[in-house]
Amino acid sequence: MENKLALINGIGVTMDANQPSCQAVYIKDGIIEKIGSTPAIKNLAAGEGAQIIDLGGKTFIPGLHDCHVHMMSTGLSAIGINLYHCRSVKEVLETLVKEQTGDSSEWIFGYGLDESRLVEKRPPTAAELDSCFKERPVYLVDRGLHYTQVNTIAMELMAIGEAEDGLGRDAAGNLSGRLHSQANSHARKYFFDKMSWAQRERAIRHTAQIAVAMGVTTIHAMEGGDLSSDYDIPVFLKIIDELPIHVVLHWCSTRVADVVAQNLKIIGTDILLDGSIGSRTAAFKEAYCDDPTSVGELFFSDEWVTSYIEAAHRAGLQTGFHAIGQRAITQVLNCLEQALAKFPMPDHRFRIEHFGFPDRCDIKRAADLGAVISTQPAFTYLRGGPDSVYEERVGPKRNRRAYPLRELLDAGLVVNGGSDSNVTPINPLLGIHAAVNPPYSGNAISPAEALRLFTIDGAYTAKEEKIRGSLRAGKAGDITVLNQNPLAVAPETIKEIEVAMTIFKGKIVYQK
Ligand SMILES: [Zn+2]
Repeated sequence: MENKLALINGIGVTMDANQPSCQAVYIKDGIIEKIGSTPAIKNLAAGEGAQIIDLGGKTFIPGLHDCHVHMMSTGLSAIGINLYHCRSVKEVLETLVKEQTGDSSEWIFGYGLDESRLVEKRPPTAAELDSCFKERPVYLVDRGLHYTQVNTIAMELMAIGEAEDGLGRDAAGNLSGRLHSQANSHARKYFFDKMSWAQRERAIRHTAQIAVAMGVTTIHAMEGGDLSSDYDIPVFLKIIDELPIHVVLHWCSTRVADVVAQNLKIIGTDILLDGSIGSRTAAFKEAYCDDPTSVGELFFSDEWVTSYIEAAHRAGLQTGFHAIGQRAITQVLNCLEQALAKFPMPDHRFRIEHFGFPDRCDIKRAADLGAVISTQPAFTYLRGGPDSVYEERVGPKRNRRAYPLRELLDAGLVVNGGSDSNVTPINPLLGIHAAVNPPYSGNAISPAEALRLFTIDGAYTAKEEKIRGSLRAGKAGDITVLNQNPLAVAPETIKEIEVAMTIFKGKIVYQK
């Protein structure tokens, strides 16, 4: 069926140097047919019997990209029961009983549990959960994601062994169902593997809905592997074309043959070479300021990383890694260099996720090697700056150069923007705001540069810059309509701009 839509009387920011602005756009069958002036597009659209929307001076831009999202974990709230409002163990149990859905084969999932808000100052025990759910496994996660609380049948199904590290016990020495550290990871992995197809599908669709409401039309989704479950991958593949957004699926696996067999073009990228600042596991050359015994950790050997990159490239796959600390960044560049020496791969667009604390020489090296940097400007905006957790961990000197966007662009690197949702929310306008207004002004980039991160350079990262990321004839009809122009408002107000409408393949998928 034909779909024809024209937007007129707008302020079009095209992100295309050949024609940077326009007033109107005409989209036919999901593809931009023409951009131009209001009279010209109105004439054309009327002649073809298209739907015409008068934007009344609103701004329209290429559909926004979020280049690093965990769609499954972001969407988990869609399948779960929110326990944050509960004030007592009794209320937690009542809420679970009242709001349970699905059949008894599905695990009951509750989130937002906050024991500091409960009068008992503790979560319900396994025995208390058993009193309501003897036969049906219950899996609750606390708000800070530090522990899991389960019932007895859940422990039995998961085969949580008595010897496991991190098992909570009551005063009498019986298992309380509260699981920390190793037992917590075990439980998490088990739960992710046991979710039903319907639950996975609901979670993915929920995230897509969150995205369109934030003006996002393309997500680079980091899925499978150790982050969630490889069982998510077939669900994504089945419903990917039905979603109201374009999803570039990154299967965070290390098994090249499996990824090739699914016809995917990308492997890995959110595989962790080091950890995070919060947990003091990002790898540095100097120790953490608040723990002089720790320099963080590298999780893989150079040999393994090099051979993996080479194998991915030989299979024609794009790839990349998560590297935050300076030592992880040096490692990934060393390995990329070696892999390319063994097997030169033109236009590889190797992705480095985060790239938080690069040495200056490594910024240049990344540019020379043709790596693409995947940043999350909201990280430092929400957690960096003076008197922040970052500063406590790494000290003022390193913190000042955390996520140095200005230096990256000046070195000629292509940089994209994302949220790493759930780490920060899917919200590209917040990301653009954060890149323009970072905690240390030396790292600031301009609004136009920041908009590139979330549009054309996001598309470039996925080798899609010829088909999306800017507004020009022949490109995807993905458009975000804003109530204000991010390039014209006072820079410190960018995050207040509202998404008025999201158009995907020429169809309105969100309207305020
Ligand atoms: Zn991530």
